[in-house]
Amino acid sequence: MTCPLCNVTDYFYKNSLFSLIFVDDIPGYIRLITNAHVKEFSDLSDQEAVEITLAVKKIEKILLKHTNADKINIASLGNMVPHLHIHIIPRFKNDPWWPGATFCEKTRDFTYPQIDLEKIKEEIIKSLG
Ligand SMILES: [Zn+2]
Repeated sequence: MTCPLCNVTDYFYKNSLFSLIFVDDIPGYIRLITNAHVKEFSDLSDQEAVEITLAVKKIEKILLKHTNADKINIASLGNMVPHLHIHIIPRFKNDPWWPGATFCEKTRDFTYPQIDLEKIKEEIIKSLG
């Protein structure tokens, strides 16, 4: 079985532990994917877990600043692809799924505000080093 997350190439940032990609469905939606094919968060070493947690925290802050989102959702499921990845998703009170998860069915149409992905990318790269 080939894992679609083991060979991600369309990332905008990569370090020794994880890579980051923009997910097209929602502007500002970022997926953090571990380089190692591990299934659970607890498969990481303590140091790796801390590093990823702090990275997610930084990304959340940058997304809040540049999207004016009402909420940032952070989710790790992996039911479909058992390779650890974390969804970091800007949410708006009138977005198609609010207040449900974005994995639910859409309940309304929504026009996203203008979001500068280049600026977000730039700031994340600077912030994570
Ligand atoms: Zn994998």
